[in-house]
Amino acid sequence: MGVPLSQMWTVATYVLGQKLRGNKRFPVVLMLEPLFRCNLACSGCGKIQYPADILRQNLTPEQCFAAVDECDAPIVSIPGGEPLLHPQIDEIVAGLVARKKYIYLCTNALLLEKHLHRFQPSKYLSFSIHMDGPREEHDHAVDREGTYDIALSAIRKALAAGFRVTTNTTLFNTADPQRFQPFFDEMMKLGVEGMMISPGYSYEKAPDQQHFLKRRATISLFQRLLAGAPKRWKFNQSPLFLLFLQGRWDLECTPWGNPTYNLFGWQKPCYLMQEGYAKTYRELLETTEWKNYGQASGNPKCADCMVHSGYEPTAVSETFGSFRGFFRTVTAVLFGTGGPKSQEPQPVEVRPEELLPILNRQDAAGHPVTARVELPIVTVER
Ligand code: SF4
Repeated sequence: MGVPLSQMWTVATYVLGQKLRGNKRFPVVLMLEPLFRCNLACSGCGKIQYPADILRQNLTPEQCFAAVDECDAPIVSIPGGEPLLHPQIDEIVAGLVARKKYIYLCTNALLLEKHLHRFQPSKYLSFSIHMDGPREEHDHAVDREGTYDIALSAIRKALAAGFRVTTNTTLFNTADPQRFQPFFDEMMKLGVEGMMISPGYSYEKAPDQQHFLKRRATISLFQRLLAGAPKRWKFNQSPLFLLFLQGRWDLECTPWGNPTYNLFGWQKPCYLMQEGYAKTYRELLETTEWKNYGQASGNPKCADCMVHSGYEPTAVSETFGSFRGFFRTVTAVLFGTGGPKSQEPQPVEVRPEELLPILNRQDAAGHPVTARVELPIVTVER
């Protein structure tokens, strides 16, 4: 696993402590969004469509610290927007390091080299670099040529300066597993600590609604992506979550496990949906109708969701809070999280409207891109 032992120990003792105290709902990762502004406009992003007066605003360091102190999750992920556009991001990070929180500062890395001097390497700080696949896929996903190479250069500089660096990759239904496998090799050769992968989620606000993965297609994609995954690929996430993505372990969403705090307050119910805000984390816990969320709830907005912010906290909780989960994690660490290479993927039914975007895919310049559709996997419903 691409997670340092000290971080694993902190999370394990935290989860065990919560379980021993009989707490049913507790946070594992705080998603702290100090701003929504970004220097990219990715078509799959649900965060940058706010009006200009909202996009101009920042959370103050004091607001960030108050949220972190109240919630008290051991890990703080700082997405956005682009956190490096926040004028006091170094102050926020320093305050969280002083609180011994493990921080993932999620960045597209366009400004990382310029701002690296504002941070100190620490076991508590990891730059989580947004890399949406190989050069062509990444530049297409972020809608700007050259961003992949800028990010590669920034990763090298950050590693050379002694920082922890991970990557995070969102996969959409246009992803070709055979092109992503060399990409994972390239990231590991760079020397990153680990990689995070997650399927995309269809944000209501995102301009591109065609390319988000449906649950059946997600499982098939991740089965093919991780089949025979070599040990050299280190993933900075729970083995149970990786098994879940392949349909090899069942998890239910625990949306309170990765609560989101931003300019509007504590977002209900999760990082992906905006169905109101609470003033405090306690109010979020007490006033959200949790039974209305997660796959078992029958909520259509949750039906196809398998994203890390909903299911990773469940995986962490099962790993450190149950013998069954711990045992399965140990076997996955010893023998790998991917299925056998010869494994036959589960048949996946894909509706025509899901298939057409794959067949009509174009590169950033508008040229057609070869689509690989493995026909035994695809059944078109009419
Ligand atoms: S299943 Fe997904 S969309 Fe639904 S509550 Fe969980 S994280 Fe949010």
